[in-house]
Amino acid sequence: METLAKDLAALSKMAGLAAAVDNIDQIIEQLSRARDQVAQARDPHIASMTMTKLQNPIKLGFDKVNDSLKDVASRNKKLGKALDKSFPLEDLPADHDAMANQPALINRAIAMHLLREGQFSVASTFIDEAQDTAASHHGLYSHLDSHDDTTSPEGDVLMGEDDSSQGDVPVSMTASSSDHQDLSSLQSQELQAKFAEMYRVLQDLKARNLRPAIDWARANSAELEARGSNLEFELCKLQYVWLFLGPGVNGLPDDEYNGRSGALLYARQRFGRFQPRHLSEIQKLASALVFAPNLGQSPCRSIFTIDSAFTDVASSFTREFCSLLGLSAESPLYMAVTAGALALPYQMKFTSRTKSRGTEWTTSTELAFETPLPKRMVYHSIFVCPVAKEQTTDTNPPMMIPCGHVLAKETLQKLCKGTRFKCPYCPSEGQIKDARQIIL
Ligand SMILES: [Zn+2]
Repeated sequence: METLAKDLAALSKMAGLAAAVDNIDQIIEQLSRARDQVAQARDPHIASMTMTKLQNPIKLGFDKVNDSLKDVASRNKKLGKALDKSFPLEDLPADHDAMANQPALINRAIAMHLLREGQFSVASTFIDEAQDTAASHHGLYSHLDSHDDTTSPEGDVLMGEDDSSQGDVPVSMTASSSDHQDLSSLQSQELQAKFAEMYRVLQDLKARNLRPAIDWARANSAELEARGSNLEFELCKLQYVWLFLGPGVNGLPDDEYNGRSGALLYARQRFGRFQPRHLSEIQKLASALVFAPNLGQSPCRSIFTIDSAFTDVASSFTREFCSLLGLSAESPLYMAVTAGALALPYQMKFTSRTKSRGTEWTTSTELAFETPLPKRMVYHSIFVCPVAKEQTTDTNPPMMIPCGHVLAKETLQKLCKGTRFKCPYCPSEGQIKDARQIIL
């Protein structure tokens, strides 16, 4: 790895071709000078003399440039070989590619990822090109379908005499037309405008300006409240702390809206509506005024240590913003690719072992091996029925019974006498109709 990095660094340095660029500059200069001489020469003899004199230096210049190019090419080839040796090509350890038949889903995930990253023009080009490719793959009918808003005379002829023929459209056409709608919906200005707004606010947060984020949270307070989110309070709290720390730290103008008095003023104006839910925290924040001269040794010093506070509120903001759009906080494509990359070595090891033993992987809906993913990437918890000692599945889901204990559906059915059952863990009894499925 280290030698590879060294080779790459050396190549990058060479690839700039600084010497070759100088050589070319020289050649251009020599040629321009010669052109001027020829243009000014009254005597044709001088013109031919100039041209003759030019030949050797120009050839020498070109030779030098070519040598530099050759060096880079050979170094490039060497690095390529080293890369192939360090990272040998191996077939992916899968017999079937589950995503091969889902180009529309994959395209959608990619387009969405680009939009979420704020790469609007890249996303737009990608969507256009993906739609063009889909149209040409699905043949003439779907191609016409994709342009059905422009009434083309040939289209009418091909599509049939009247609208009734639209009833029996080819299957591929309906499929591709829905792909188009899927991708076109991402082309919407509204979605782009939303993400642009998100990036503007994040940019401001990075510059330690909380106001746009607070304004957004205020404007969406009803939805945030409904989700049980504390974002608005957290932002206002940080704004209080930020003001409290004063112009020496926050770099804001030294006036009555900054410093301790500014923080107090801010608290009076803004904290009122948070009192029902956050009274004790507000009291703590207010009591900081008493400790102000010696904040570092005070009990409330942790509130005023704001090393990671801005990054924390930025990620809370992103999470809430995306969730109000009905999206997850992290890009699903990023998550899937990262988790896949982490799982790949385990899968390769597993496949090579099962192959050498002549056994095969038979479960197609679940992995036959553990993939240790970091906690933040674990979404679907599993549940093992405490009675049957078996993991629940889609057909045998976990059920919560009225006393709050959870069993697998099949276990519950076995426990039933008629429609009633007795909980195996506590003295309560219940009816099967009162059991609720749990979605993990
Ligand atoms: Zn119970």
